[in-house]
Amino acid sequence: MRRTRVRFAPSPTGPLHIGGVRTALYNYLFAMQQGGDMILRIEDTDSTRFVPGAEAYIKEALEWLGIRFTEGVGYGGNYGPYRQSERRDIYKTHVKQLLESGHAYIAFDTPEQLDEKRKAVANFQYDATTRMEMTNSLTLSKEEVDARIAHGDVYVVRAKIEPGENITVHDLIRGDVTINSSILDDKVLYKSADELPTYHLANIVDDHLMEVTHVIRGEEWLPSAPLHVLLYRFFGWEDTMPQFAHLSLLLKPEGSGKLSKRDGDRLGFPVFPLNWTDPQTGAISSGYREAGYYPEAVVNFLALLGWNPGDDQELMSMDELIAKFSLQRCAKSGARFDYEKGKWFNHTYLQQHNNKDLAKEFAKTVQAQGYEASLDTLETIAGFIKGRLTFASDFWENAYFYFQAPKTYNEKDRQKRWKENTPEIMRNLHAFLSTLSDNDFNDMVTSETKVKDWCNINNYKMGDVMNPFRLTLVGEMKGPHIFEITSVLGKTETLNRLQKAIDTL
Ligand code: GLU
Repeated sequence: MRRTRVRFAPSPTGPLHIGGVRTALYNYLFAMQQGGDMILRIEDTDSTRFVPGAEAYIKEALEWLGIRFTEGVGYGGNYGPYRQSERRDIYKTHVKQLLESGHAYIAFDTPEQLDEKRKAVANFQYDATTRMEMTNSLTLSKEEVDARIAHGDVYVVRAKIEPGENITVHDLIRGDVTINSSILDDKVLYKSADELPTYHLANIVDDHLMEVTHVIRGEEWLPSAPLHVLLYRFFGWEDTMPQFAHLSLLLKPEGSGKLSKRDGDRLGFPVFPLNWTDPQTGAISSGYREAGYYPEAVVNFLALLGWNPGDDQELMSMDELIAKFSLQRCAKSGARFDYEKGKWFNHTYLQQHNNKDLAKEFAKTVQAQGYEASLDTLETIAGFIKGRLTFASDFWENAYFYFQAPKTYNEKDRQKRWKENTPEIMRNLHAFLSTLSDNDFNDMVTSETKVKDWCNINNYKMGDVMNPFRLTLVGEMKGPHIFEITSVLGKTETLNRLQKAIDTL
């Protein structure tokens, strides 16, 4: 049995899309489960699409999420270099090999000639039916070909695909996918202009030389797989051909069509792991990290978009995911991107953070708002309000009243809650609360019991007391249990707010 080796092979053409993150995650889960290797290979052979900063972005994003490589660009290993632009000579040797064995040929057709042909012939495809009408090493003499190359004419090398043969890709998720070779074109494998191979050649040469055992990648690469199978055969590498697993697409929240950046902009959620600044336009695309997500929540959410553990467990740590993951349980059909579910995951992970740690996060916000509070107090507040938070950054809108007295009172709430006899009830409440000790105040159970008893004795309806009382403390009808507010505010502040409302309203 060969050691399991997988690779994540992004092209540095921009920020990593969330679908690419999922591909990396599934590779990682699979590799770790098998005790294998996880390689980072940078596929930068298309120099026209190269974007500076993209490679660093990809690494930072995956590190943030805890998706770790054991080998590859920046991680070392015995199969390097791992950046394809540094492997030109390797590809050249392999292109030569295909030319010599007759599985590839040299083509000189200029872009203008190809355009003309496309205009003249409907659905023109460079393949067995047309290649003999073109300018290539199959139609020119050897002398002519050599002379053109010596003269410096640019050329490409194309795969020579024989028609009429069924090619089967064995896919671990989809089963056997068979197509007829007649529909394939003679794909370009190499371009003399930049002395670089195309994706197809570099990809399979590297998978072979790096001893990759499983190719787990997005569904968009499935159409390339039959050509890849053929290339393995051309090189005589069938015995060590990796197993394929093509993951289904991430779909729009509405359920049909591929999830795109525009869906994120339109519906207000990130489709990238980290913020990304376009180096050309300066435009910023938002990321999960900056939106306040915990990496564990993103990982858990993504893991379940296109895979299920076979039971109804939803919350899983990375270790649990590694233990449970299987390619057989990956979905064949697309997974709808349920953004609300992503938020639910973050909310749920936030509940698992202990109040001490949350207090430290909140302390920065409180300071930035110009207030002071001890970590102990913030820890107490965290316990009271965290159930309402999706993100730690929701803290202030759910807790501001612990720090600032209301400056105004919500008009709608005032109309509804501040009735004719309310001022009198509030004055009586003020008088009663003044008789309580500081200790009674700071203990929510004691204060609640005492106030409720007092209501009963005075025949006050609970709502007629508690609702306006809340309005005096918060300024509107929101916030946690009222004694979870007063216990933190303490006697003096509570009475001040009560008095101010009586005076104002
Ligand atoms: N460079 C390709 C990409 O950007 C790799 C596809 C593959 O994994 O074969 O996704």
